[in-house]
Amino acid sequence: MACDRLPLIAPWRRLRPRVAGREGCPFCLGNESMTPPAVGVAVGSGLGAKILWSDSPGSWTARIIPNLYPAAKHGEGEVRGFHEVVVESPRHVEHPHEDLESFEAGLKLAFYRLEALWRLDWIVFVAWFKNSGRLAGASISHVHSQIIALNAKPPCIPSKPEPSKDLAISAYDKAILYSHPKPEANYHLAITSFHPAGRPWLENLNIIKGLAKLIAESTRFYVECLGIDSYNAWLWTPPKGGGEGWWVEVAPSRPLGGLERGYNIYVVETPPEEVAREARKCLRR
Ligand SMILES: [Zn+2]
Repeated sequence: MACDRLPLIAPWRRLRPRVAGREGCPFCLGNESMTPPAVGVAVGSGLGAKILWSDSPGSWTARIIPNLYPAAKHGEGEVRGFHEVVVESPRHVEHPHEDLESFEAGLKLAFYRLEALWRLDWIVFVAWFKNSGRLAGASISHVHSQIIALNAKPPCIPSKPEPSKDLAISAYDKAILYSHPKPEANYHLAITSFHPAGRPWLENLNIIKGLAKLIAESTRFYVECLGIDSYNAWLWTPPKGGGEGWWVEVAPSRPLGGLERGYNIYVVETPPEEVAREARKCLRR
């Protein structure tokens, strides 16, 4: 089946500033005036956090703000949509495992927002993804993810990475973390549930707790055991009109060569079974 490419031409992104550290960080609590008003905020920690669809001043654990330099805009262009940023802790931490309770609240907030966008009749695809670290293309180090909703489908539909016993790493609240059977990078991981629905938030809400916990375990494995701090994570949900369940992939960032970019062929040094063994050992600690 042909697998074309979907470019999003966004010249305004040339104006994107690079903000590296804690100094003048627009995502830290108290610096809200440095960002556009929030679309929604989570107040309180974990899955019990209250979701408010307004820019609530005062304390928050996670907030969604419009991306000032969006990959797609809703009023302009052939490909239209929403591109927003989810700030996943009021504190200046860099990884989900450093503030799991806020990350969980942030994931709940993101998923509620994605469901609202999914219900717009012109939106056909929604996504949640995370770029962390310089190699991953992150411009701000404060822990955050991004959500996108588009009137266009991704040109390639990936096949689900199937979990198997020798690739299993850990399980939590019906979510399972395993080594990706078809990796594109060393230490490539995947997370799904035992019976995935079209979108994770359509399952029992506890799946968000399990998913947050396992994403955080993945980043702890990278940062604390492997010394890797640049990685990407992404949620796959089928576009409208086709496909089955969801899954999340987490993978260290890597420079891509001609073989990868030209032919979708990936050379990887770590065998998936070995990755699973190493991760199990690391996460027991
Ligand atoms: Zn910060």
